[in-house]
Amino acid sequence: MADTPELQARKTIHVEGEWRDAVSGATREILDPADALPFAAVAEGDEKDTDLAVAAARQAFDHGPWPRTPAAERAALLRRVADLLIRDREELGLLESRDAGKTVEEGRVDIDCVADAFRYFADLVAAEAPGRVVDAGSPDIHSVVVHEPVGVCALITPWNYPLLQASWKIAPALAAGNTFVVKPSEITPLTTVALIDLLAAAGLPAGVANIVTGPGHSVGARLAEHPDVDLVSFTGGLLSGTKVAQAAAPTVKKVALELGGKNPNVVFADACATEEGFDTAVDQALNAAFIHSGQVCSAGARLIVEEPVRDRFVAELARRADRIRLGRGTEDGVECGPLVSEQQRAKVEAYVESALKEGAVLRSGGRRPEPSAGRPATGYFYEPTVLDHCHRGMRVVREEVFGPVLTVETFRTEDEAVALANDTEYGLAGAVWTADAGRARRVAARLRHGTVWINDFHPYLPQAEWGGFGRSGVGRELGPAGLAEYRETKHMYQNLAPKPVRWFAG
Ligand code: NAD
Repeated sequence: MADTPELQARKTIHVEGEWRDAVSGATREILDPADALPFAAVAEGDEKDTDLAVAAARQAFDHGPWPRTPAAERAALLRRVADLLIRDREELGLLESRDAGKTVEEGRVDIDCVADAFRYFADLVAAEAPGRVVDAGSPDIHSVVVHEPVGVCALITPWNYPLLQASWKIAPALAAGNTFVVKPSEITPLTTVALIDLLAAAGLPAGVANIVTGPGHSVGARLAEHPDVDLVSFTGGLLSGTKVAQAAAPTVKKVALELGGKNPNVVFADACATEEGFDTAVDQALNAAFIHSGQVCSAGARLIVEEPVRDRFVAELARRADRIRLGRGTEDGVECGPLVSEQQRAKVEAYVESALKEGAVLRSGGRRPEPSAGRPATGYFYEPTVLDHCHRGMRVVREEVFGPVLTVETFRTEDEAVALANDTEYGLAGAVWTADAGRARRVAARLRHGTVWINDFHPYLPQAEWGGFGRSGVGRELGPAGLAEYRETKHMYQNLAPKPVRWFAG
């Protein structure tokens, strides 16, 4: 793709196996967050394109071969997709880096994780029994519970992990035998568009995988309300998630929501008793908060640290935060890219400003970095920011900032640590750092979060469920429950010796 402002929009709407322009002819430029210059252009779909895509997915589900394809064949196709992703890893990793602003290495890791998701769901469906025989209490009754695909799935995804979030939906949806329409974030659609080509190359029948690029208020909203959509799976912010649930309600479709988080990272003093322990806890707190400039749903944005180690811990954290190398994600040696958009940076700046007014103490960052050759002034950069002396009364502690901002709170007792960590309307993820194994298990058991790490932060496993308590969402992705989301459960009861029941005498 040429680096010129006059870009030819690629056909990025895929319906019935064909690449198309938007019905309206509208297009959108995709900006590189490192310099705000357009580097690609895509079709800007709307409700009309969405209706066509849903009709294609409906037709493919009701009359096409995919829902009736044996599990072993579906699994084989998913494995071919994983191989193609690894074949194209460099290209896709680079594309993800330019689109979302992350470093190329992060982009590559994302693609590995996407391939893992396809392999995991392939293995899961290939290994499972076709149904569960139920003892009906009579030799004349054959009773079995089976799982069937839900139907047409609408998959709506965010900009921070564009292809990874899409794969957590697309892989299980296909493994279960569904057809789908995916709507990637309007600002980061490129790798999801590329995946649709790989699905076709792997042999997926036309009409099974459809994509409409375009905004949430038109394409996303239409998908959520559409009467021919059977399930909507959404990953994004709380506000949009609430709108999706409302739009989906009148048609009582299945709804899965993966929303935001305000994730606590609880550090007990005993975790820092040795130099190695201290170094590890600080290093991981840095990573928890600042990887991908904090634009991670599970970012450890709330450091909750035991009082006696607070000053030393925060000083070291701030020292290291100041040294994070910010720059264009495609450049060697860069550790952190820009924020994804001007809008996102403005949001972060407003949160930091309000925190400082409310009494937070700035320990590092809190501003845009000086521009440099690798960091153009037009890019959406913001320095990793540590805010000390924070408390629950502050918006920055309660609300998801989704940027490189770490708040620090302190505690004196285990009960206080748990109370602070649970004092959030969200409940996506949290961590506890301690050298005391008993305390680790006690605290982990009391945290009201969908993932709890003990002496670690951020790892996830495709075979373990991911999702949130509270307003972090409804349902789970990954793991067996992540497949179950895409299925209906059917009980088939067969009477082998039918007789009249004579309930009615006449
Ligand atoms: P967003 O809510 O603005 O957008 C997400 C998607 O929803 C986009 O494709 C958008 O176009 C679409 N959308 C917006 N309004 C819509 C509407 N009314 N109807 C239907 N679709 C609509 O979120 P974002 O800014 O792209 O992503 C950041 C958010 O995603 C953060 O809150 C983050 O925590 C969350 N997230 C959660 C997880 C998780 O696993 N829980 C993972 C990644 C991101």
